[in-house]
Amino acid sequence: MELASLTSSLLSSLGVAQERFDDGGLAVHSPIDGRLIGRVGAADKAATEAAIARAHAAFLAWRSVPAPRRGELVRRFGNLLREHKTDLGTLVTIETGKIRQEGLGEVQEMIDICDFACGLSRQLYGLTIASERPGHRMMEQWHPAGVVGVVSAFNFPVAVWAWNAMLAWVCGDSVVWKPSERTPLTALACRALFERACRGMAEAPAGLLEVVTGGREHAALLADDSRIAVFSATGSCGMGRALAPRVAARLGRTILELGGNNAAIVCPSADLALTERAILFAAAGTAGQRCTTLRRLFVHESIADTLLERLRAAWRRIPVGSPLDTSTLVGPLIDSGAGAAMDAALAEAKAAGGKVFGGETVAVRGCEGGCYRRPALVEMPAQHDIVRRETFAPILYAMRYSSLDEAIALHNDVPQGLASSIFTQDLAEAERFLSAAGSDCGIANVNIGPSGAEIGGAFGGEKDTGGGRESGSDAWKGYMRRATCTINYSGALPLAQGIRFGL
Ligand code: NAD
Repeated sequence: MELASLTSSLLSSLGVAQERFDDGGLAVHSPIDGRLIGRVGAADKAATEAAIARAHAAFLAWRSVPAPRRGELVRRFGNLLREHKTDLGTLVTIETGKIRQEGLGEVQEMIDICDFACGLSRQLYGLTIASERPGHRMMEQWHPAGVVGVVSAFNFPVAVWAWNAMLAWVCGDSVVWKPSERTPLTALACRALFERACRGMAEAPAGLLEVVTGGREHAALLADDSRIAVFSATGSCGMGRALAPRVAARLGRTILELGGNNAAIVCPSADLALTERAILFAAAGTAGQRCTTLRRLFVHESIADTLLERLRAAWRRIPVGSPLDTSTLVGPLIDSGAGAAMDAALAEAKAAGGKVFGGETVAVRGCEGGCYRRPALVEMPAQHDIVRRETFAPILYAMRYSSLDEAIALHNDVPQGLASSIFTQDLAEAERFLSAAGSDCGIANVNIGPSGAEIGGAFGGEKDTGGGRESGSDAWKGYMRRATCTINYSGALPLAQGIRFGL
């Protein structure tokens, strides 16, 4: 079946009305073969502002619905995702080019965060705090924050939105979502499923989810609007630099999930078979288009020749092809611009003395309009500038080191700070890497690669990665406002710090 008709039948079975995806100004192309798969309407400024107004009205009602009932809505949505996992996963594959396993994995991640958020809806705990004054009690309450604006990237078109939206809803917030202009169809599918989840639940007001399809200007409208209480944006560091100052100008709150430049250190005692498998998934998986993709490898000089030879052998065997083909491990890049960025990075690495292995164009029959590349492994003499930048493509730069101190210093010597790994059987080395003087990233792993995080932990990174945290642990606090409350039941009025003040 042609991709356009497959897309159309998937969207219909997910409940999206035909006129929503075949008649708009925003053209959507599949990276699989470069062909048109839909046309979505782009909201204008007035429509975007109206969407924010509807979401704000929804928030005013939703904030008073008991949190466990809010969790019930998320539970219903999770069940619909379970029912439609294959269709939505296939649509993710068609729109992003990620392989079937990863398309399905993305929907599973949504289901997992629904379960997490549903449980959380009964656990939005505050503290009680000892007061210094007699007859007083202090406590913290967590209240809904307001409208959460979510701007998302193409590479996790629905899971990252779900990390935000599921927490926002159980926290009593409403959501305005500006998906990537490259992946609006999966957003329409999520909205259709969410509308079904809301049906039959009287407490769920219209406007809990508003989807604003469009480009950068729409993201800027959300950033500027003071009705957006929490502005959560996922994408490149450049996007963060453009939008964070706009939110700051109105003193708004941000959750920023920006680019990564993730590394792994491989120590002499590492289990090389395990390390090789972990590196393969982390560096080549999702065609190098994960924020947590492994991009830099520091290998101890005593094992570098052996490991790099094993990796080159693996790189040669990676099946590159259509992501709909079940034997494929590496699908296409998102578009030809990404291919050009990969070529430019490899040329720069070569000019800096890098030895490039792989990276060539792969012709895939029937997918001539797609941009397919063999993952590249580049041995670099040093951590040159090109290594310090994130190129959103499957390039792994390998460097040798002689001492762990040197490896950790090089590891941290990049602007980004998202995910990191060490491969070692030596407990002291692992602990040093995880310590305050070790990896400076938001995610630090031992004997697994930097990509493929579970939803139970807080996800995010430091430095140019933006400092935001989403998903598990106590990331929910970013979607609520904290009220510190003091209750005086003493009948007297003692002031804090022993201050006497009275006529
Ligand atoms: P992108 O920055 O091009 O776009 C992301 C979103 O931001 C889109 O919705 C886009 O419309 C908007 N946007 C981009 N530039 C903007 C600007 N100047 N003004 C206003 N809006 C703007 O990113 P992408 O190519 O879709 O995704 C890849 C990037 O996202 C990589 O850098 C990757 O590391 C990062 N990413 C980070 C995380 C994370 O959790 N840290 C997760 C996924 C992707």
